[in-house]
Amino acid sequence: MATATIDEVREWVRAARSITVLTGAGISTDSGIPDFRGPNGVWTKNPAAEKASNISYYLADPEVRKASWRRRLESTLLAEARPNVGHLALVELERRGQLNALITQNIDGLHHAAGHSPDKVIEIHGSAREVVCMECGERAPMERALERVRAGEDDPPCRSCGGILKSATISFGQSLVSRDIERAEQAAATCDLLLAIGSTLTVVPAAYAVPIAAQNGARIAIVNAEETAYDHVADAVLRGPIAEIVPAIVG
Ligand code: NAD
Repeated sequence: MATATIDEVREWVRAARSITVLTGAGISTDSGIPDFRGPNGVWTKNPAAEKASNISYYLADPEVRKASWRRRLESTLLAEARPNVGHLALVELERRGQLNALITQNIDGLHHAAGHSPDKVIEIHGSAREVVCMECGERAPMERALERVRAGEDDPPCRSCGGILKSATISFGQSLVSRDIERAEQAAATCDLLLAIGSTLTVVPAAYAVPIAAQNGARIAIVNAEETAYDHVADAVLRGPIAEIVPAIVG
């Protein structure tokens, strides 16, 4: 396994011309949003949430949708979450003109909230800050839909066409947006350094950014508390808290 140190990775970051970052749920745990697979993971604690995240159940069963809206209303996690030092350090890369793109598996909107330009961030699994109509594709802010639930609509339909509304995230069973996948592949293929932060790198195609970058000659640095699926291709594997390591390597 790769043995480069934090100091060496800091030098790589300083010298890089084009950095692509790939983030997963781990970068947001310090903002109070649990990841999926850990002991406090969302699905570990609430198996019904996994059912709601499958598109076929959601579309077929109004009770699944109602439960999903109720859970959103009751949970203040996403609404109250703020970017942490890990998110903020990555904005510095953009400010210095080094950020090629930031690909994120997260749906929490915290990279946007941290201050990135929207065109630098590729939310490959969508965003929970918006809703989308499953019929006509119209989008609206999540908060507006939640106001309707608060006011008594237990499964609010699309205001334009009456279709089913859903958070604008990619549920299981749903296709990814091909334009976002292409942009992510392009961003991975054209960087000279790829930083993979807070992901088990087991969800594809998001994780493919790592081998694509490696095949195109980029250095790979992985920051994660535990083993990932691509540690074997990385030039540096930094195991430890993101809130310490990411600010340290951005310098
Ligand atoms: P994951 O849950 O599979 O893995 C997260 C990894 O981050 C784990 O290996 C964990 O040990 C590590 N980690 C957690 N907190 C850390 C910290 N403070 N410092 C260092 N490492 C830390 O996450 P994934 O690989 O991103 O995939 C899960 C899927 O779940 C993704 O597709 C994503 O869309 C979705 N998800 C998103 C959010 C969010 O938007 N914040 C939250 C949960 C799940």
